[in-house]
Amino acid sequence: MFHSYTGHIAEQSIKGVYTDSRIEMADGLFVPIVGENFDGHDYVSEAVEKGAIAVLWNKQKQLPDTLPASLVVFYVEDTLTALQQLASAYREKMNPIVIGITGSNGKTTTKDMVAALLQTTYRTHYTKGNFNNHIGLPLTILSMQPNTEVLVVEMGMNHAGEIKLLSNIAKLDYAIITNIGESHIEYLGSRENIAKAKLEILSGLSKTGLLVIDGDEPLLQQLHNQERVITCGFAKHNVNQITSLQVHDNETSFTINENANYTIPFLGKHHAKNATLAITIGMSLKIEAGKMQSAFRHMQKTGMRFEKLRGKNGVTLINDAYNASATSMKAAIEVVKQLDGYSEKVLVLGDILELGDYSEVMHRSVSEAITKPITNVYTFGNAAKYITEELVEQSGSIPASHYTDKNALLNALQPHLHEEAIILFKASRGLQFETFITDLKQ
Ligand code: ATP
Ligand code: MG
Repeated sequence: MFHSYTGHIAEQSIKGVYTDSRIEMADGLFVPIVGENFDGHDYVSEAVEKGAIAVLWNKQKQLPDTLPASLVVFYVEDTLTALQQLASAYREKMNPIVIGITGSNGKTTTKDMVAALLQTTYRTHYTKGNFNNHIGLPLTILSMQPNTEVLVVEMGMNHAGEIKLLSNIAKLDYAIITNIGESHIEYLGSRENIAKAKLEILSGLSKTGLLVIDGDEPLLQQLHNQERVITCGFAKHNVNQITSLQVHDNETSFTINENANYTIPFLGKHHAKNATLAITIGMSLKIEAGKMQSAFRHMQKTGMRFEKLRGKNGVTLINDAYNASATSMKAAIEVVKQLDGYSEKVLVLGDILELGDYSEVMHRSVSEAITKPITNVYTFGNAAKYITEELVEQSGSIPASHYTDKNALLNALQPHLHEEAIILFKASRGLQFETFITDLKQ
């Protein structure tokens, strides 16, 4: 992999691998990445100031002559490829049990659930935040401690071929496909192609490995009843079937195969399914049900994901502004419909970004979920207007209106600020819906 290197490799070992020159990296290896609008090679001096003792370096580029002579420089053809190869070699050397998670929605949640369950019994290393791409996944692998027993990685994608690459770097013992939605349909063209892209996860799955999938998704039907595949979901044919479900105020309870009961601090059917995927991995790794039940009870939720807050005049606000796709928007609306104790159920929905030519049809499709007991709908942004249009055209029985001005929308929400109302805020991250929450919080 390395063409040559300069500098001395003394009795010093590299403590970590970094691509961001802005963070502290004592005794670290800096890997300059070339992006569309930046070139990491320009930041090598900063990286050295932050503590880098070694760098990967594209052999076509000139190394600045101001760098300390002690800096170890590994010349490579391409720094990104070298980073990925390093990760792959480290994974082989450490040889933990590896679990990879992909899907259109629910990857991070499921990853956190799997990690919480496996941590009860194994030294577990897992993707922090959303480090799930061709750079984040190698960095996740390279930050694992040598004594790691289990590695849990999230695998994200925008285009065909990306999951194959990640799966082959991580070399999986277990693979999870959480669901097939419509995120990134603008690049992939159809839900069938999205399913195909998620199935690339099989590429790096060991021959003796296990695939755990959303068994309710028709596009994954060809995998049912196959050896080394476990289906999870609500339909009867699932190997691990969710046989009863109750959504409470702050948690969801459900039963798997009519015998094991679980309670999770997340709301909604979709999270019960994510949890069942995680439990399936836990069962296969011989973790007792009692330990898993207690691990779920102690899980911390990440912010802006269906986060319930008290707002002005005692109104309940739900901050789900972290991200959105049509599937996750509909899932969030379903949860609001199931919550007891509110006479007004209000939706504030913003644009779902990155849908390209599918934007209008996807926004219109959200209206399928908007039925009673939802009482009021407000949309905000540009394409979100199609949700309102569709509702008005359909029947007009649930009042809906579209806004492009934030203050006007805040004014319109005033009559809903009371104890018996709940307001859901959901949009793509780019719409910054959390600012509404800031304004309406108590
Ligand atoms: P990203 O692509 O941003 O990494 P992700 O796949 O990691 O997303 P999460 O961050 O776990 O997904 O959840 C994103 C949204 O999807 C949340 O709003 C959540 O409520 C919703 N969601 C989670 N699981 C599912 C599911 N199985 N089906 C539909 N929606 C889901
Ligand atoms: Mg994620």
